[in-house]
Amino acid sequence: LNAKSARATARVFCIANQKGGVGKTTTAVNLAAGLASHGQRVLLIDLDPQGNATMGSGIDKRQLAATLYQVLIGEATIATAAVPSEAGGYDVLPSNRELAGAEIDLVDLDDREQQLKHAIATVADRYDFVLIDCPPTLSLLTLNGLTAAHGVIIPMQCEYFALEGLSDLVNTIKRVHANLNPDLRVIGLLRVMFDPRITLQQQVSAQLESHFGDKVFEAVIPRNVRLAEAPSYGMPGVVFDPNSKGAQAYLAFGAEMIERVKTL
Ligand code: ADP
Ligand code: MG
Repeated sequence: LNAKSARATARVFCIANQKGGVGKTTTAVNLAAGLASHGQRVLLIDLDPQGNATMGSGIDKRQLAATLYQVLIGEATIATAAVPSEAGGYDVLPSNRELAGAEIDLVDLDDREQQLKHAIATVADRYDFVLIDCPPTLSLLTLNGLTAAHGVIIPMQCEYFALEGLSDLVNTIKRVHANLNPDLRVIGLLRVMFDPRITLQQQVSAQLESHFGDKVFEAVIPRNVRLAEAPSYGMPGVVFDPNSKGAQAYLAFGAEMIERVKTL
């Protein structure tokens, strides 16, 4: 066995938070591009019918031959539905609003929470990382993501009550761990849209560190307009402006994840 084949199975991570607008998709897209630029083979799965991770990777969600939806209902494989993000340097299993219908199609299946896990298994030897950009709901789609994953990355803003807002997600993770996926764990909390000039954010950040220790990633993602502008150019911020503070922070986060998976 050479080194590559000894660790040929992808590590699968959900980027999840039940709130919308907290930086899940920005984290998914930029972590994917950051890992790719560090030489990792990455598949980004867009589990949100909004298709923002698809568009943010430079793939037009209105012109897709096949999507995650067809994969979940057994009409396509990941190998045929995934498309390369030329901007990002990784593959994307794309989605659009059609994915919302999967909830209804899956509900009568016995192993309805396992469909994504089974699909990922067929391509696990092709990637080092599979990242799943979750929707802001604790739906059957999100359950499919959590059932398929080794761990969860939780992006959060350092706001008052930020932690209380996480209790539903943490309870869902516990339930999935107990019933569907004993491998599942929280990998870490990622501080995003951070503004060090705001005292409250510094205080919440310090509280997170003292409460959760090394479950808080060292990398901190600043609020940075270049990260917000990049999707309209169909590019991850890491590629759009690699020298910006936001891009540098996501590149550092990628390096931290590569180290972190060695300890899992
Ligand atoms: P979610 O996927 O959780 O709904 P998004 O990643 O789409 O959240 O982010 C919500 C909005 O905030 C988007 O307009 C995005 O461009 C912006 N945004 C995310 N992270 C940052 C950041 N670090 N700095 C500035 N804007 C950001
Ligand atoms: Mg999103």
